[in-house]
Amino acid sequence: MINAVYNGANITLAVLDNRTTAMTGHQPHPGVGITALGNVSKAIDIADVVRSCGVEYVKIVNTVDPDSLESCIKAAKEAMNFNGPSVLVFKGKCVGITKPDKYYKINPEACTGCGFCIKELGCPVINLDGDKPVIQDNCSGCGLCAQICLQKPSV
Ligand code: SF4
Ligand code: SF4
Repeated sequence: MINAVYNGANITLAVLDNRTTAMTGHQPHPGVGITALGNVSKAIDIADVVRSCGVEYVKIVNTVDPDSLESCIKAAKEAMNFNGPSVLVFKGKCVGITKPDKYYKINPEACTGCGFCIKELGCPVINLDGDKPVIQDNCSGCGLCAQICLQKPSV
């Protein structure tokens, strides 16, 4: 980011802050505010770090409200229209932490078989069964498919 500011690069950096280290076991990191020994510590704020590099356009985007997909797209468009380096911090807890008790399934009556969820989303628990997708039992309940499907898969 320092180089981007220094050279006036017209880029947008997206930070996906899921409040954990999800890919390697959900251990804490300096942005979380809990040390590896479980002690409370001062959390490093990603937006502050970016601002300290001289970035003028920094926005935190909440990803957990029901309209989050649209607000994320709007925020991304605005940041990309900014002349100069811009940073978005998309912030929301990983479903591996929140463990929603809500799982999704596709209503075969409503599904048009457009295939958008298979081709564009790439969720590993959505598979084709004939010409219609089905959601397997190990759905994590993240709700992303419900946001992108125009037919809204039902719970
Ligand atoms: S995006 Fe929705 S309508 Fe299209 S195939 Fe998937 S579940 Fe069916
Ligand atoms: S996108 Fe999320 S809610 Fe939808 S099937 Fe995949 S894990 Fe479940």
